Amino acid sequence: MTVIPHTPFTATVPGIPRIGPRRELKRAIEGYWAGRLTADELHAVAGGLRADQLRALHAAGLDSVPIGTFSYYDQMLDTAVLLGALPPRVAGIANPLDRYFAAARGADGIEPLEMTKWFDTNYHYLVPEIGADTAFTLHPEKVLGELREARELGIPARPAIIGPVTFLKLAKGIDSAAPLARLTELLPLYRELLGQLAAAGAQWVQIDEPVLVTDLTDEEIVLVRNTYADLASAPTRPALLVATYFGRPGPALEVLAGTDIEGIALDFVSGTTVSDVTSIPALANKLLVAGVVDGRNVWRTDLDDALATLGTLQGASGSLAVSSSSSLLHVPYSLEPEAELDPALRSWLAFGAEKVREVQLLARALREGTEAITDELTAARTAARSRRDDPRLHVGTVRARLAALGPDAEHRAPAEERRALQRDRLQLPLLPTTTIGSYPQTTAIRKARAALRAGEITEAQYREQMRAEIADVVALQEKLRLDVLVHGEPERNDMVQYFAEQLDGFAATANGWVQSYGTRCVRPPILFGDVVRREPMTVEWISYAQSLTDKPVKGMLTGPVTILAWSFVRDDQPLADSARQVALAIRDETVDLQTAGIRIVQVDEPALRELLPLRAEAKPDYLNWSVAAFRLSTSGVSDATQIHTHLCYSEFGEVIGAITALDADVTSIEAARSHMEVLDDLNSAGFDLGVGPGVYDIHSPRVPSVEEISAALRSALKAVPAERLWVNPDCGLKTRGPVEVEESLRNMVAAAHSVR
Ligand code: GLN
Ligand code: ZN
Repeated sequence: MTVIPHTPFTATVPGIPRIGPRRELKRAIEGYWAGRLTADELHAVAGGLRADQLRALHAAGLDSVPIGTFSYYDQMLDTAVLLGALPPRVAGIANPLDRYFAAARGADGIEPLEMTKWFDTNYHYLVPEIGADTAFTLHPEKVLGELREARELGIPARPAIIGPVTFLKLAKGIDSAAPLARLTELLPLYRELLGQLAAAGAQWVQIDEPVLVTDLTDEEIVLVRNTYADLASAPTRPALLVATYFGRPGPALEVLAGTDIEGIALDFVSGTTVSDVTSIPALANKLLVAGVVDGRNVWRTDLDDALATLGTLQGASGSLAVSSSSSLLHVPYSLEPEAELDPALRSWLAFGAEKVREVQLLARALREGTEAITDELTAARTAARSRRDDPRLHVGTVRARLAALGPDAEHRAPAEERRALQRDRLQLPLLPTTTIGSYPQTTAIRKARAALRAGEITEAQYREQMRAEIADVVALQEKLRLDVLVHGEPERNDMVQYFAEQLDGFAATANGWVQSYGTRCVRPPILFGDVVRREPMTVEWISYAQSLTDKPVKGMLTGPVTILAWSFVRDDQPLADSARQVALAIRDETVDLQTAGIRIVQVDEPALRELLPLRAEAKPDYLNWSVAAFRLSTSGVSDATQIHTHLCYSEFGEVIGAITALDADVTSIEAARSHMEVLDDLNSAGFDLGVGPGVYDIHSPRVPSVEEISAALRSALKAVPAERLWVNPDCGLKTRGPVEVEESLRNMVAAAHSVR
């Protein structure tokens, strides 16, 4: 075995964003899809972005720069390509780029791979499919090409690839066999790849194994040991750095330390402690890459704290490098374009570029002593003090109100009592029909919003146009004879941003884009202070809709957990405390809606499952506070006001008990797999409230027939008595076209009538 000569590095990050500082890559890829750009033009844009970024990171002081984390869509998909594991259904597409995009987003008659959340982040990866006909073969052209590119630029590049254990654990078995059973087939390919990377001049290779921070079985831990013992014994290879992030690696750390790999990257922001390291003597001869700069939240690092951590680690490791805790994929590129941000808030923040600078400063302080960064330490301390002392972070009125709310504030009368009161008040038929909230966001709506932003129309004109949209949506629902109406949400750009913009304590960025999946980027609001609702946020719109009809119109709100899940959150207090503050604002809104005569209020929590911690031991606490926050937000209204919630993911498993505990009078829920299955799961969790399992899938433009929907309803009725069953699509209609929406809803109402 030969490990090629390598020197330890001192400053790096595990991965970098790729969509472009101004989303240039997004535009280029979408241009290619639309036929406006050729493949060569797309490659040229991508190559230019990569080169600029590598140069910038090197110039900023990183002495090892990750490459290979660039992607046209997703790095798990890239790994599937690397290992020859694309699904057979795309094999017929000759052009490799088109084949790749077909696997990512589908093509004529070809289903794309499934997409799901990357650990507990808001990034989504494509789920590789591993079946009996998957024959792994190595296709290293992409990573070798990027390595060559970097070396030509004189950049000390470190290829980063997703490790075999993570790849297989996250893949989906197409036939019954678990993908992990195929590990031994993959190892020779990784060994071969290591040889090729060594030959191409890579001193170090980073192998990402984030799955090590999740609960693994003893057998899986053994597989981890075997994998890295095997890869470390590859005939010729670069030095190996195994990277973990998003949590503590637990028992896997000792196992890794016992193999002949040269380095380990650990996330000291989300859980790993200094004593995890000092307790393992074998780490004393490895390179430890210490993630002390938060890679997935936007706050400036407490440099003093970080230096204290690094100081202890120095004695416990062979050599020490400073790093961000995870890839910078999860934060915006740079604060530089954020000139409009409140200057105090801006001084508390660090986006990608600023985090790289922090890494470099810390590495410099380790090398030259803290005197070398005196000015920067002073600036960081000043910012920290200004953040700590800012009155917006300690709003007495909000804190006092929350402190005064006892546990009663999270409870309503028993469900049967509420049911009786609501039945008398609402007078709904059996199997009431409704929708989830949004109606198609037409071009006219988007144009109006753009025109308002550009100052081409006045606020008053904008509002007039939104009212016209609402009137149309109400008229349509009347015509279709739906039972419980909605206003259609035309005024909302996004269900979280809309509320964040109206609440004190949240700030919006101008250019803080973060990749969500593929070319889709989001601009999460930043929750920095105590949450204060200045005035009612939705009452005017909902009341207007209600004034147009005698049927009940649902008030539409986003729940506290979802608002937090899709924002950058405070790191100076527990998330549970922030959740209570948001919940209070939503609670006030429900009460105002009720006062305005609204009889039903829906509080959406589609992200309830998203924040679920990675480790089982942390789950009960999360479920406790998240359920409590939802209940706090929905228990301020009278028992005669009906509370709905909407959940839209189909893997309920671990949260099924929590759904019962939400105690919403009616829950509409995505039921993509089978109605019976969802309802049976709910039944066995003791759920006995109103439920609307989505009767058709809104993610496809297909119009479901009356027969199909009736069959879905009949099957639901086997699990739920008619008194509790609601009839609705499985999510909001925002992304659908107006024609198919009208036809689908007409069929849905007809089906409800026939089954009644
Ligand atoms: N009320 C929202 C809508 O209909 C819910 C969206 C969601 O579930 N993500 O658009
Ligand atoms: Zn939904």
